[in-house]
Amino acid sequence: MDKNYSGIDYFRFVASLLIIAIHTSPFASFSETGDFILTRVVARVAVPFFLMTSGFFLISRYAYDNSKLWAFVKKTGIIYAATIVIYIPVNIYNGYFRMDNLLPNIIKDIVFDGTLYHLWYLPAAIIGAVIAWYLVRKFDYQTALIVTAALYFIGLFGDSYYGLSEKLNIFGGFYNLLFQISDHTRNGIFFAPVFFVLGGVIADRRRKTVFIKSVCGFGISLSLMLIEALSLHYFRWQRHDSMYVFLLPCMYFLFRSILHFKGNRITWLRTSSLIIYIIHPMMIVVIRLFAKLLHLEDLLIDNSVVHYMVVCLFSVAFGVAATLLWSKYRPKKVRYDSRTDRAYIEINLGNLEHNVRVLKKAIPPKCKLMAVVKAQAYGHGIYEISIHLEKIGVRAFAVATIDEGITLRKYGIRSEILILGYTSIYRASELKKYDLTQTLISLEYADALNKQGVMINAHVKIDTGMHRLGISNDDFLDVKKVFTMKNINVCGIFTHLCCSDSSVPDDVEFTKMQISGFYKLVSVLKENGISIPKIHIQSSYGLFNYSELKCDYVRTGVALYGVKSLPDDSAKLRLDLRAVLSLKSRVILIRQIEKGDCVGYGRSFIAERDTKIAILPIGYGDGFPRSLSDGNGRALISQYIVPVIGRICMDQLAVDITDTAGITIGDVATLIATEGCTNLSADVVAQNSNSISNELLCRMGERLPVIIKH
Ligand SMILES: *Cc1c(COP(=O)(O)O)cnc(C)c1O
Repeated sequence: MDKNYSGIDYFRFVASLLIIAIHTSPFASFSETGDFILTRVVARVAVPFFLMTSGFFLISRYAYDNSKLWAFVKKTGIIYAATIVIYIPVNIYNGYFRMDNLLPNIIKDIVFDGTLYHLWYLPAAIIGAVIAWYLVRKFDYQTALIVTAALYFIGLFGDSYYGLSEKLNIFGGFYNLLFQISDHTRNGIFFAPVFFVLGGVIADRRRKTVFIKSVCGFGISLSLMLIEALSLHYFRWQRHDSMYVFLLPCMYFLFRSILHFKGNRITWLRTSSLIIYIIHPMMIVVIRLFAKLLHLEDLLIDNSVVHYMVVCLFSVAFGVAATLLWSKYRPKKVRYDSRTDRAYIEINLGNLEHNVRVLKKAIPPKCKLMAVVKAQAYGHGIYEISIHLEKIGVRAFAVATIDEGITLRKYGIRSEILILGYTSIYRASELKKYDLTQTLISLEYADALNKQGVMINAHVKIDTGMHRLGISNDDFLDVKKVFTMKNINVCGIFTHLCCSDSSVPDDVEFTKMQISGFYKLVSVLKENGISIPKIHIQSSYGLFNYSELKCDYVRTGVALYGVKSLPDDSAKLRLDLRAVLSLKSRVILIRQIEKGDCVGYGRSFIAERDTKIAILPIGYGDGFPRSLSDGNGRALISQYIVPVIGRICMDQLAVDITDTAGITIGDVATLIATEGCTNLSADVVAQNSNSISNELLCRMGERLPVIIKH
């Protein structure tokens, strides 16, 4: 469970007590103003808080399918339906079913107003969630906020500011028409969406905030809201009193403040709060009956404070009891995560965040970190890695192919995306549509792309000696030509170093030649009146060994994931980077074989003694290299490091666990570890398989589920 959200759990409870206050007016028998302040102003934060909480966990611009939304709609719908049924007796008692025009009224109540006074919240949550979801997904937070705030303001003039809109009479019969459809503007269309969007904004932008600032912001907005409310009350403008201008900043700061509370989550508090919310009107009825029977009306009904406390007591007792009973007697499902039962990649986002911090500190202040997320983010899962990076403020991404770029856009990434590799010129319109920046790999390529007649953002690649992609740094005229192309907007120019990881003097010499060749070209361009776009040279090892360069970007791949390409490197800049990925599988079978028995294809393993083996359901089909067969690979199971024996198959491998004790079926086997076990770090495993971490990791992107470690 995430400890960061315990404040939300606590405040849910507070909010449910505030809602009871709204419906019981605790101070009514003592002070009218006091009651107004508590129930019509302060307690008005409760419902928006519930809406924001739902938004916080639901709304995200990175949601790439609608399943989460529909699950929310379904769950809320079921709760709503059940509550409607529960309250039918109360409705009968209130004479609900004897009203005129029953059918249209029932429909209206079910969609907007609720069939009992407090139940409007549930349909509002459903409608609000759907509106917020589509606005955020179709547009962006800014647009979604503008639209939902506009809706809120329309609602405002049918709520607390209704007197003003009546007086000005600028809206004609608009509100009258509206009130025929919904009793209040405080509903799923005008009221709820903005709070869902606000919740999503806070969840998706993981800004570090200062507690004191949030609390002060809350205090100030609440005071302003109080002044606003009292003035509106004084002028008698309020038709209803749920919506205030200052409620919006108030909620924003309140929610931010609440997120600062850390502690263990109390999940039963969450369910209880919902039940308290749903059940308290029933408790009010029950207490009335009680009071009548016991002749205690003076105390239990007429004394508003006592009345409030008794309603709270009954509701909380009911809520807690129902929650505990439910957790005890609900049909027990076997709790297992199907994604971790065979083989999986575990991602430590805390380590990723740490690496971003360290790398940002290591590069010049004006230089941007460009996160290289090609090949499934080096096998780490392009979705999980990229959205987290954007949430924590990374604003530039690099991929190898246009399809990777489109995928990022579909996941909701809005930052700039540079395609480092080749894209067919026939996909020019897609480059534009998805706002992707293309690398120009040669003059001919640039020319052909230009002729497509679509305006393309591009970075020119300069070949300074690697002889892979790019225009040679000697061909100044060719480079210059690219800058004059009508449909090519050159916003960057870069080169790639081919031996920046080496400390061999010849290699260092070569790299320096590459760097100076690049800068020479840049200065000639400058002399010829070309305004120089963003420049970049370094990848991870470029940064490690040539950190003195001052560019506009560094393109970090392997460093971001906290691994070295090989164990024995002599990088100059030693950064405290932490591995992000671990590779895990499970023991699914343990068997005893006899001396002389073989294991696996080709009988490459023959037991020299009676041997106990364990089978792990992971193989080269998952990207675990076949070259780690026959003792080259190892696994960590409980505290033992055990060797791979025989040949690794596509989907299975065997390890020798003869010298271990206590290993059982279902145990986790770690094949690549993030920390603690240097023998299993990616660089060592890569070296054992005659490769480098980059290849080892990026080959694991296909079949393995990505699990986020909390
Ligand atoms: C893949 C790639 C990078 C990232 O390299 P790392 O060594 O993983 O940091 C940088 N630049 C280009 C052109 C690349 O293709």
